[in-house]
Amino acid sequence: MLSDQEKKRYSRHLLLGDIGEAGQLKLSQSKVLIIGLGGLGSPVALYLAASGIGHMLLADGDTLDVTNLQRQVMFDSHGAGKLKADLAEVRLSELNPEVEIDVIDQALTEDDLEEYVPGVDLVLDCSDNLETRKAVNRVCAENRVPLVSAAAIRWEGHLMLFDFRKPETPCYECLYPPDTAEPVLNCSTSGVVGPLLGILGSMQALEAIKLLLGMDPDLNGRLLIFDGKYHQWQNFRIQKKVDCPVCGG
Ligand SMILES: [Zn+2]
Repeated sequence: MLSDQEKKRYSRHLLLGDIGEAGQLKLSQSKVLIIGLGGLGSPVALYLAASGIGHMLLADGDTLDVTNLQRQVMFDSHGAGKLKADLAEVRLSELNPEVEIDVIDQALTEDDLEEYVPGVDLVLDCSDNLETRKAVNRVCAENRVPLVSAAAIRWEGHLMLFDFRKPETPCYECLYPPDTAEPVLNCSTSGVVGPLLGILGSMQALEAIKLLLGMDPDLNGRLLIFDGKYHQWQNFRIQKKVDCPVCGG
């Protein structure tokens, strides 16, 4: 049962038929892993902590740089030079003391992923490179842990949802096969408009909440592409490849 204090804090959730007290309890018993505390990880971590996700595991090995502040809204100017994982822990605990927070303040290796992913209900990939995304995809698929992944550059954002509990689910590698090279374009060389990360990160948090509640949002195996300049969404179904080295045969 929720305490009186929790009933008050989450009253706007309790008003929703799809959440209610049972749903809020489900959220409070959930554990998620957030990989990357940058432009996407900021809104993801803030919204999930505010929503009362019971246990959050945060992974980021970087220190805060002043160039991050244009888009990484979880942080402020006083934090420059400090580890983002530590800053996030303080910020999120102040936002919601009900949430249990653990941090991994170093770049995640594949061994770390093998250790932590099986123990969580859901993974949010908010990283900024292909190598990490592929490793996260592999380990999530292998352990049948749902993955909500996003990426953004310049004015364009991508959102992908893979519910690996369902056998028909394709994966990230079906879309970007093993020989795909790291794109030359990334946020540090090409730039990105700040609010775009807020939109994509907020959508990751929204989809995570729905998955944790057990709702079936029908975005499984889909790639959503958002054009922030002309405000258009495109929605594709990702074809599961029979010879995919991660999820095929
Ligand atoms: Zn695949």
